[in-house]
Amino acid sequence: VSDLQAVLRDVPDFPKPGIVFKDITPMLADPRLFGRVVNAMAAPFRGQHITKVVGVESRGFLLGAPIALALDAGFVPARKPGKLPHRRIIERYSLEYGSDGVEMHEDALLKDERTLIVDDVLATGGTADATARLVQRLGGQLVGFSFLITLDFLEGAKRLGPDKVTSLLSF
Ligand code: IMP
Repeated sequence: VSDLQAVLRDVPDFPKPGIVFKDITPMLADPRLFGRVVNAMAAPFRGQHITKVVGVESRGFLLGAPIALALDAGFVPARKPGKLPHRRIIERYSLEYGSDGVEMHEDALLKDERTLIVDDVLATGGTADATARLVQRLGGQLVGFSFLITLDFLEGAKRLGPDKVTSLLSF
């Protein structure tokens, strides 16, 4: 964990003044570290019969796709509005910086499919909560959330249900 912490870069005032952005690109660039992160984020969900991993645009794609393969599950992208080509459903949320929506294809999940949501950072939980609502609307069974980093002071885990949330690092 300490070498992981060492490569995560804090970028002050990005994308807006007052936000300290956690930059994960140095971790992705190191194949051993990236592999360890993927395995560690997948580990709590091994043996839980996950069949779909939903990755949240865009850093949730980078982590969610290899985690899906590690769990022998399929990958489903949850995207910003207007990006998915096929018929889709939307949930709106307010963000640490601004407000936005998230969409999934309406046929992305089978009924009762055991689903894991993945993203890089849990801040207020607005994005993950909106994604969970999409999973529920599509009839999926939400098993949990796997994050690389939780920003504890924003209390996102409380919002999502602490028993469903796992995270490698918290600040
Ligand atoms: P939330 O909806 O407030 O929990 O914000 C989480 C979303 O914003 C995730 O998709 C993150 O990727 C992104 N995010 C929020 N804060 C940071 C940060 O410090 N670094 C990288 N991404 C962040």
